[in-house]
Amino acid sequence: MMPDLPTRIVDCLKDLLPPDHGPYPLHEPTFQGREWELVRDCLDSGWVSSVGQYVDRFEAALANATGAPHAVAVVNGTAALHLCLRLADIGRDHEVLVPALTFIATANAVAYQGAIPHFVDTSPATLGLDPDKLDEHLQDMAIRRPGQCPINQHTGREIKAVIPMHTFGHPVAMDRLIEVSEHWGITVIEDAAEALGSTYKGRQAGSLAAMAALSFNGNKIITTGGGGAVLLRDAETAARARHLSTTAKNAHPWAFDHNDIGYNYRMPNLNAALGCAQIQELPKMLASKRQLARRYMDSFKNISGVEVYSEPPECTSNYWLNALILQDSRQQQPVLEAMHAAGYMVRPPWRLICDLPMYRHCPAAPLPVARALQQTLVNLPSSAALAPGGQADHDQAVS
Ligand SMILES: *Cc1c(COP(=O)(O)O)cnc(C)c1O
Repeated sequence: MMPDLPTRIVDCLKDLLPPDHGPYPLHEPTFQGREWELVRDCLDSGWVSSVGQYVDRFEAALANATGAPHAVAVVNGTAALHLCLRLADIGRDHEVLVPALTFIATANAVAYQGAIPHFVDTSPATLGLDPDKLDEHLQDMAIRRPGQCPINQHTGREIKAVIPMHTFGHPVAMDRLIEVSEHWGITVIEDAAEALGSTYKGRQAGSLAAMAALSFNGNKIITTGGGGAVLLRDAETAARARHLSTTAKNAHPWAFDHNDIGYNYRMPNLNAALGCAQIQELPKMLASKRQLARRYMDSFKNISGVEVYSEPPECTSNYWLNALILQDSRQQQPVLEAMHAAGYMVRPPWRLICDLPMYRHCPAAPLPVARALQQTLVNLPSSAALAPGGQADHDQAVS
């Protein structure tokens, strides 16, 4: 008799992932470069906090890696998003379009500014915000005002911005999104927290809009422990971002003089030292993660009723998290249970943000695709170390 689907999936992972490496977390960092050296050097220098050369070096490396003209390193990705919204003058009672299927930070950053997230649906082709559906939704409910942002005719509020998020590293259809946003007069802020190293039509995620946020949390493709960055095209906006992230303090040898309500959001030098080492490893990390994704795709080809999500056309994904999509939503719970029992720390997607108590009252478009994905998607263990030739294999070989 043919084993059931959860058993076949578990067997597939047993064949594919290096043995004796369990339990297998969803995503673990790897420190195989100069991490110890640079962090030690930072400690030796005594400059561990909010001033130091590693912050400047890390920012230069980020700008270089993404092609964004300016990078401002901050304490985490949520702070980076919040700063973007502040820089875009998003404030009280503005509406900001965000995907319903995203990490909570995307919506929280909007709420921090007193603005209201307005949830829109996901594209099955990218797992990110669907620009065609966004356009349809705006036609249904918004009043277009040439030269200004549109108004939500049901709430009377201004719709000021949209935050596309590159889900699991897969780029949103940005050309179409920017076309729709320009037509309606809406600012685009990229949530590229998951997408460092991904490309869209040859351009890097994080450089596809005038403003973007990155995250270097411990579970992201590279980490600074905790950290994030704002990527900006405009020099003046970048200077303002630096100013706001350092309590809006005017430069002076001793006086405490602040000219705005700023934040204590600057990345500490110690974290930046780790970041300088990690970003040198990014090409290796990307290669490992591609290999792992390829292996998942090859192995799951033989199992009917499941599919491993592969990058959208004209994109190179960083494959931050691999995603298995089940044909039958009734299999999601049994698959999650069987995999956890076997030591694979797999996850369903986030709950749709519009279903959480604090955002339940917010406006939302119809969300059929996001709802379907919520019930059929399972993220697979995706650490770079699990790739052939990754750290796990290396351990095997030497032990
Ligand atoms: C990780 C992440 C963030 C930011 O997270 P921090 O933990 O604050 O660095 C924001 N948006 C998305 C989609 C993320 O995955």
